[in-house]
Amino acid sequence: MTTHPSPAALARYADPSATLDEVTLWSVETHLEDCAACRARLTVGPDPFDRGAAGPDLLDRVAAAIDRQIAAGPPPVHRRRWSVARNRLLAWHLAPWLVMTVAVLACAVLLQAAQPQLPSLVALLAPVAPLPGVAIAWSRRHDPAWELIAGTPAAGLTMLLRRTAGVLVVIVPALALAGSRTGVSLALTLLPCLACTAATIAVGALVGVRRAAIGLGAGWALAVVLPAVLTLRLPAVLQPGSSPLWALLTLALAGFAATRGANFRRLSSHN
Ligand SMILES: [Zn+2]
Repeated sequence: MTTHPSPAALARYADPSATLDEVTLWSVETHLEDCAACRARLTVGPDPFDRGAAGPDLLDRVAAAIDRQIAAGPPPVHRRRWSVARNRLLAWHLAPWLVMTVAVLACAVLLQAAQPQLPSLVALLAPVAPLPGVAIAWSRRHDPAWELIAGTPAAGLTMLLRRTAGVLVVIVPALALAGSRTGVSLALTLLPCLACTAATIAVGALVGVRRAAIGLGAGWALAVVLPAVLTLRLPAVLQPGSSPLWALLTLALAGFAATRGANFRRLSSHN
């Protein structure tokens, strides 16, 4: 902590008509952040014996005046249900990413029609399709209202799950449609998609959702998509018998993520 400012400096800091040079102002403010004793001196006035009008009395008068004005004002407007649902589930900053994902899936369907010898691109892309949306669903960098929402009780895992549900509401029908156009089974499209979403949230509890999504997406591209495109064969993890494994994996990862809910309440740089 810096040294205590002189009573004269504190008095000038508290006096709205006095002017302080910037260096003193800055040093007093920095000190007040850490020193409860000086903050207390400031509240009761520079002279501890002069418990004057600028102290707690003033704060009480201001609080009473605000209460009176709130009571005299118009009653609060209750929002309609659909507007609550819209605010909770839809985040407009997600829209471009969802449009991009749907466009990529549409390209995969077209490419599949043009090059039937390729392994099913929709099946290969389905697990990573929700990842761009999930990565930025609850992101400090992409949501302009992040800091406001982060201070509310609805923040954290609840908000991430709501936004993820908003992403899946768009991605799942798009995947189902793309799968039906290319003849991929619904289970092999949707279960890997849900498993990867759960994995992103589970790993995201430890390293941050954005990093988890980037890592999983890159890992899937290198370990599964690239070999499949090079060998022109669908890998074993996407063969028809693998659906129960994907379902089990989804449940296990969702269970793990549920136990790590507290990690999403921290205001870390991971978000
Ligand atoms: Zn002090």
